Amino acid sequence: MDTIPTSVIVVGAGPVGLATALLLRTRGLSVTVLEAAAEHAPRPGSRAIFLHRQSLATLAAADPVLGAELVGNGLIWGARRTSYAGREVHHRAYTPPPPDRAPFSSLPQPVMEELLRAACRRAGAELRWETPVTGVTVSTDGVRVGTPEGGLRAAYAVGCDGARSAVRQAIGVRLNGPRSPHAFLVLDLADDPGHPLPQERAFHYLDPRMAGRNVLTVPFRGGLRVDVQCRPDDDPDALGEAAADWLPGLLPEGHACSVTWSSHYRFQQVVADRLTDAYGRVLLAGEAGHLFAPFGARGLNSGIADAAAATAALSTGDVSGYAHARHRAALLNRRAAGRALTHLTAPTPWHRAAQRLAAAAALCSDRAGRWLDSAPYGPRDAGIPGSRY
Ligand SMILES: Cc1cc2nc3c(=O)[nH]c(=O)nc-3n(C[C@H](O)[C@H](O)[C@H](O)COP(=O)(O)OP(=O)(O)OC[C@H]3O[C@@H](n4cnc5c(N)ncnc54)[C@H](O)[C@@H]3O)c2cc1C
Repeated sequence: MDTIPTSVIVVGAGPVGLATALLLRTRGLSVTVLEAAAEHAPRPGSRAIFLHRQSLATLAAADPVLGAELVGNGLIWGARRTSYAGREVHHRAYTPPPPDRAPFSSLPQPVMEELLRAACRRAGAELRWETPVTGVTVSTDGVRVGTPEGGLRAAYAVGCDGARSAVRQAIGVRLNGPRSPHAFLVLDLADDPGHPLPQERAFHYLDPRMAGRNVLTVPFRGGLRVDVQCRPDDDPDALGEAAADWLPGLLPEGHACSVTWSSHYRFQQVVADRLTDAYGRVLLAGEAGHLFAPFGARGLNSGIADAAAATAALSTGDVSGYAHARHRAALLNRRAAGRALTHLTAPTPWHRAAQRLAAAAALCSDRAGRWLDSAPYGPRDAGIPGSRY
């Protein structure tokens, strides 16, 4: 048995585990991160590309170098555009603010993770790779985390080990909630310097270039995310395999259309029964505790809010406060992401009529255009005091 005097074991070196470790170090707690994968194991796809202002501020307060790097390695687009059945209904262009007032940063999640790993090392967190956690035993005075080499003891453990969390299973907690029946095809395209894309986020309702499917495109540093909402009769695999036929129609003439990653999803909207064990020694954060549809960017950003709240709880010993506040936040975030999902999938004639009427009204009403532009992301505020997530 390894008896290193670790105060907190963080399980998982994804973005939430790394953020948790960094924030815990800023409060002076000793931290060991146990990660199942090798340090440079490939992480396919851009995944979470949108770091919101609140997440940037949290991480910059812990490490100003990291804050500057997350903005410097990201993109802040200067326009948003929405069309309905091929006609523009909203367009807003603005001058991006200076980096120290960045409203967000758009960069691939693997780049965020690389920057977070460096910040964790600067802060003195110990990172152990290829160390899968196989179990957790809890008592009133601490936890023992099992690994193939034996185990580690600590006062607390934070499970940041993602959707299939072994920590969550070890403490007997389940995820509950629905999975959307609607499939979404997601592709990453590499930039083509010869044919630069407009640096704007665009949403197309009933896009005629895609036979009436909804299409969202979001730029990030180095590429473009293309998100196509499949029709009920679509085979998402076949649609993805045929991308070479339809992608050129969405992009400027001559663009290389180099697809770097593609996948399809039926998004889950699930939240853990509770976010701590019965003794208050194990906390769940990020996707170990909740999974949301990505519209509104609540996945990673709410995980960073969890990391900040877990750090405050472990510094003060108020673990039950964490359990209560972040469970409530997870339910509110799920409801907000669910509103975005409902708007996108427009399940009733009423939803479809409201969008059609707003598109007609947008000819003379800026408000109608703004609603069509913002509704696919859900409410801006989840109703959580002091936090957007
Ligand atoms: C296509 C797609 C698009 C997305 N877009 C967005 C977006 O735009 N904005 C947004 O905010 N979010 C988005 N997300 C969600 C975002 O990727 C996740 O919220 C984020 O990765 C969750 O981070 P995490 O650290 O909780 O979990 P993960 O990233 O899953 O990290 C978990 C880590 O734990 C490790 N691990 C697992 N089991 C063990 C074990 N037993 N022992 C030790 N280590 C273990 C894993 O190897 C992994 O490194 C998107 C996700 C997808 C799939």
